[in-house]
Amino acid sequence: MNGQKLWSTSAHHAKYGMLLARTNWDVPKHRGITYFALEMHQPGVVAKPLKQMNGHASFNEVFLNDARVPAANAIGEVGNGWAVALATLAHERRSFDVLQRAARTGRGKGRAYDEQRAEVAEIMAPYTWYPQRAGRADLIVERAQATGKSKDPVVRQEIAKLLSLARATEWTAKRARAARMAGRPPGPEGSLGKLYASEIARACARVHTLISGTDAMLSGADGPLEGIIAEILVSVPAVSIAGGTDEIQRNIVSERVLGMPKDPVIDAEKPFRDVPRNKR
Ligand SMILES: Cc1cc2nc3c(=O)[nH]c(=O)nc-3n(C[C@H](O)[C@H](O)[C@H](O)COP(=O)(O)OP(=O)(O)OC[C@H]3O[C@@H](n4cnc5c(N)ncnc54)[C@H](O)[C@@H]3O)c2cc1C
Repeated sequence: MNGQKLWSTSAHHAKYGMLLARTNWDVPKHRGITYFALEMHQPGVVAKPLKQMNGHASFNEVFLNDARVPAANAIGEVGNGWAVALATLAHERRSFDVLQRAARTGRGKGRAYDEQRAEVAEIMAPYTWYPQRAGRADLIVERAQATGKSKDPVVRQEIAKLLSLARATEWTAKRARAARMAGRPPGPEGSLGKLYASEIARACARVHTLISGTDAMLSGADGPLEGIIAEILVSVPAVSIAGGTDEIQRNIVSERVLGMPKDPVIDAEKPFRDVPRNKR
């Protein structure tokens, strides 16, 4: 295997990576991809952590240089990797929640529990800033009261708008969960959730800035809440990108939920070999 992949979260800790590799160039691009479990600890694989603007280094640039994958590590049919990838993505967020719960609730005594906690702590270390990237709407009222800004009518109005949006989004998510539990397929609520998470995160950054003023820029122990507010401001842009950008999400909502005409696609049926690419 040869190639390069940006953004792989936790690749520097991982024993295995999920690899989508092009195995057939003579069929259209969504076919001809195979899904493999790639052993990360081998001479042909290098994972280089990337330092983010919030100071953390959660994801990596991964280089594959004549890396080897045994045929037995193919997951699903050869050439059917796209379907396996879609199934993986549908489960991505859920498994993350399960690990967080294990980290919070694992209080058992003894070696097995200690080792489990150490393992979960290592897996979760890249994610300590994730609450901040969601914008921390939970801190808004407390901060407004602590700074005296809760008396400012403009700030109060912005807080009310933000909290109404956050609450309505939470109810929509609950409706979607109830529909799934009742055996109904995921509806438009699910598609809108990701987009609203971005809207809320950005609105939080705006309101935290209104409340904290220029102090919001101070990081570490010098800043409000030991730098949490500054960390929010430099972490929220991630939500609009990770797991699919806002623009792609809007395309999905317009095409699959509202039934609007699709983006013109010129290469979906061409053999991948004939799809124009950059010269390299
Ligand atoms: C915090 C974080 C963690 C991540 N973790 C992982 C990980 O663990 N593993 C992993 O594989 N990836 C990970 N990613 C990568 C992430 O999934 C991608 O960055 C994201 O899906 C966008 O893809 P891209 O970077 O190729 O952007 P592009 O697809 O190149 O998009 C560039 C810009 O063009 C816009 N655009 C692209 N196509 C269209 C279109 N058809 N219509 C309108 N606008 C369009 C996009 O919205 C964007 O603004 C992570 C990203 C972040 C920020």
